[in-house]
Amino acid sequence: MSKITVEIICSACGADTFVRREPEYDGFVKKGEKFICASCGHRFPSEADVPYKQKKTMSIFSEADKFKKVEIFKSDEQGRNCRYCKHYVVNPFTQRCGLHNRLVQATDLCDKFEKAEEKKKEEIDKEEGL
Ligand SMILES: [Zn+2]
Repeated sequence: MSKITVEIICSACGADTFVRREPEYDGFVKKGEKFICASCGHRFPSEADVPYKQKKTMSIFSEADKFKKVEIFKSDEQGRNCRYCKHYVVNPFTQRCGLHNRLVQATDLCDKFEKAEEKKKEEIDKEEGL
């Protein structure tokens, strides 16, 4: 098994060094990973506690990536989910497509997708007894 080393500034000994990442086993079952300072051997309780040298830069990048993914998902895929389709029928046990008459998931994509109409105004009118 190859060890992954990442640069850290150790919070225990202050050294500009590496963190050793090692699998931790409970018998034969892998139960997690150990994060150990290569310089002093200090063990960090979890990955969140590892004082990565590049941490700031890395998190900025991953935030930007996350944002991008969300945007794509919103404008493209999510809009065509069965959940938003007018043929989508929900009851307490199953979710069906009324058009194909088969079981579907809310997140399924369908080429016969038709956007469900906004029911908000209707619902509000009903509530107000109009
Ligand atoms: Zn250390």
